[in-house]
Amino acid sequence: MKIHEADARALFAKFGLPVPPSRLVLNAGDARKAAEEIGCPVVVKAQVLVGGRGKAGGVKLASTPDEAGAKAKAIIGMDIKGIKVEKVLVARAVDIASELYVGMVIDRRSRKPLMMVSPAGGIDIEEVARTAPEKILKVVIDPAWGILPFQMRQMTAALSGDKEIAKKIGPILASLYRAFMAVDASLAEINPLVVTPAGEVWAIDAKINIDDSGLYRQKEVAALRDESSEDRGEVEAREAGLSFVKLDGNIGCIVNGAGLAMATMDMIKHFGGEPANFLDIGGSSSPDKVLTAMRIILRDGNVKSILINIFGGITRCDDVALGLIEARKQLGGDVPLVVRLIGTNEDRAREILSGTPLIAAATMEEGVAKAIAAAKR
Ligand code: GDP
Ligand code: MN
Repeated sequence: MKIHEADARALFAKFGLPVPPSRLVLNAGDARKAAEEIGCPVVVKAQVLVGGRGKAGGVKLASTPDEAGAKAKAIIGMDIKGIKVEKVLVARAVDIASELYVGMVIDRRSRKPLMMVSPAGGIDIEEVARTAPEKILKVVIDPAWGILPFQMRQMTAALSGDKEIAKKIGPILASLYRAFMAVDASLAEINPLVVTPAGEVWAIDAKINIDDSGLYRQKEVAALRDESSEDRGEVEAREAGLSFVKLDGNIGCIVNGAGLAMATMDMIKHFGGEPANFLDIGGSSSPDKVLTAMRIILRDGNVKSILINIFGGITRCDDVALGLIEARKQLGGDVPLVVRLIGTNEDRAREILSGTPLIAAATMEEGVAKAIAAAKR
């Protein structure tokens, strides 16, 4: 689960991280007032649950309250990566001498928390990871001990050659680690952590994702969920009990079982295609689930074909077939559907689908090849 920067900042502050004062507002008038109270210059920041707001024009500096109002007016209503901006954060702006990166994730390989630090922070950290990965220091932390003194020295030294500044960064890393662990985060990031010309250190951006499996014991954090800023498909999928992850390709996938869904995506890639999503409709079947899945996938304008790959066990192929027919009827559209149904009631499914424009495939390979070919057309 993603939470807004405003909430992540509040959480960081609670754990002792140096976060400049800020207010969350819904309109230009309140932004103006907030700037007056906080003191200018301020930075006005779109509150949407996607990264790269700076590059998209969603982060703007203002040197007077009037200017803050004007910037808020420009940002509210803006569309950032498909999400409409409804709230902005007005935060005290700080002077920047250098921008550092500090982040934490769970490292699958070591199965432990991993802290990543880089002196090359700012808006292009993904680019740094691609082109100059040596600029990012990764340190695996054993939760039994926490950050060990030598690890702390390695990280602070990597972030700043100035001993005084490195000394200030130490407690910040320790606080970030405590916050990450305390809220069952899957990611916590300060990008950038800035050093001012006067040698102060501030966390001016805050990002925290919570591990969904931890939400049952994170009631306070769970209450911060903002569905209006989440990907609509992901919200709808969660409500329908489907597990769905949107990707950037053009071949929609409807599959039952996470393993088969992964294998299907792998095979699409293997044959030179790009999946548009991961979608597991789960074990038990119902025509309704298939209809919801189709609705979610068809909302993605990139989708040029859809591959339905079902291995019927508990899931009944005829249920899936009925869902597909219903979806075509209700949703219309002319996106080609390639269907591979095998297992329980597959004969009945074949009868249901015969005479429809759906493209049948007998094997997974055939289905994948046909879906890729259909997407190219
Ligand atoms: P993101 O693009 O969504 O990650 O948003 P950030 O909060 O990281 O802001 C993007 C960029 O805006 C930062 O890397 C800074 O260069 C700039 N920025 C943000 N806040 C301030 C600030 O208080 N002062 C100055 N000078 N620049 C800022
Ligand atoms: Mn940032």
